[in-house]
Amino acid sequence: MVFDYDLIVIGGGSGGLVASKLALGLGKSVAIVEKDRLGGECTNTGCVPSKALIKCGQVARDAQNLNKYGLSNQGAIALNTDKVMDHVRSIIQEVYQTHTPEKLRETGIGVIKGAARFIDRNTIEVGGKRVRAKKFIITTGSSPFVPSIDGLDTVDYLTNENLFELDTLPESIVIIGGGAIGAEMACALNNLGVKVTIVEMQDRMLVHEDEELVEILQAHLREQGITILTNTAVVQVAKDGERVVITCKDEKGNQDVLTEKVLVAVGRQPNLDGLNLDGIGVKTNKRGIETNNKLQTSVPNIYACGDVVGPYQFSHMAFYQAVIAGRNALFPFGPKLNYDNVIWCTFTGPELAHAGLTEQEARKKFGDSIQVFRKPYSELDRSKTDDTMVGLGKFICDKSGRLIGVQILGARAGEVIHEVQLGKYYNIKFAKFYNVIHAYPTYSELVWHAARMAYVEGLKNHPVVKIANKISGLFRSKKK
Ligand code: NAD
Repeated sequence: MVFDYDLIVIGGGSGGLVASKLALGLGKSVAIVEKDRLGGECTNTGCVPSKALIKCGQVARDAQNLNKYGLSNQGAIALNTDKVMDHVRSIIQEVYQTHTPEKLRETGIGVIKGAARFIDRNTIEVGGKRVRAKKFIITTGSSPFVPSIDGLDTVDYLTNENLFELDTLPESIVIIGGGAIGAEMACALNNLGVKVTIVEMQDRMLVHEDEELVEILQAHLREQGITILTNTAVVQVAKDGERVVITCKDEKGNQDVLTEKVLVAVGRQPNLDGLNLDGIGVKTNKRGIETNNKLQTSVPNIYACGDVVGPYQFSHMAFYQAVIAGRNALFPFGPKLNYDNVIWCTFTGPELAHAGLTEQEARKKFGDSIQVFRKPYSELDRSKTDDTMVGLGKFICDKSGRLIGVQILGARAGEVIHEVQLGKYYNIKFAKFYNVIHAYPTYSELVWHAARMAYVEGLKNHPVVKIANKISGLFRSKKK
């Protein structure tokens, strides 16, 4: 059988770019099929624009709070946000420039424009042309899930796919869903002067996060002016002239919220349409493509990775899975998936970083044998100099003193957590972090302070220290 490529990657987002570069590096002929812009959701409508908008929000907040730092300007600062979205789009473009079709072709990766449809297990059709490959990796990503709410389709609702296309910021927005997208965009837009209401059907935002940390975060966001309605469902959406009426229902009854824009952020659905997966025997379910622990689908020469597989829908998990899928697709004896060290960060203000188990999950699994070492940001000198006092680090160890979970709410939590992630990955006892010199004054000292508690706890239980304490206790009682 003659093939055009060793590997065809369907989808040019985070997973597709990593898988194709890996294949090229391993000396294989490879092409990406992409129907839209390379970079996928991450570059164009997700991670990159959202982080750019968050930065704009932080700058706006700092500018409005000059007096906190002993500064003032002549008269009040009147913030004009008209160019904010232009700025965000310029950042998208800057990142996109690193992986344009031309750039990829220069390296030797083929780029085929269009939507792929499987004809058989080795052939796809793109724009009427057939292309054949020995192996395939499907990494078509996910799209916003839009719930069926009465009247929602009668308004121009936003999702992450069109939010960053706005010319100017609205005066108000209702965000349906208090998950990662809802929480991040609420912070950014609120900092930029937009009146924000979050409607979340669960009893709190960010349900996969540590309860105590979410409580602190929610209280802080409310203090900053964000309205958070929990245990609340949106039951109806209706147009009212230029505005939208959102009817929310909680246990007390219905209330209407009048808003200029609505952002839907209630989760994702896998992009499976048009691939003809059923036709060639690739098994799927409502969460996406089914694979084994080597990311091989039910059709042996076809692999899949990223959001279209799940369960963790993050760009960095797509990177991780792309390497597993790529190695297994191209060579025998490839690695298996291992989700023991999954990590993520939600870029709220302050950030909420997550590695391993939350305290609640750890207690469920290991009972009261776990130890939780806690350090508030308010006790760090760096938080005092920077006025970033809101936050708490929780370091959860099993009975052998090894980290099984780390949850950090606070400034730069997404950076701070990587030190402990490394320790967790290499199974280093948490107390040992206390031996490591940490620069003062940094946020990373949070880890060092918490590790001191683990170190002292370990010393207290050391047999030699126990005997010494007993003896000195005897002397003390004799003296009396
Ligand atoms: P999500 O799953 O994180 O949160 C959706 C939220 O919407 C949940 O809290 C859910 O209870 C709520 N919800 C569902 N239906 C609702 C309804 N009808 N009314 C009110 N609330 C409702 O989904 P998302 O925020 O859309 O994010 C999508 C994916 O992108 C997630 O997997 C997320 O982890 C990922 N993401 C990651 C980051 C990051 O890593 N920093 C940032 C943004 C998004």
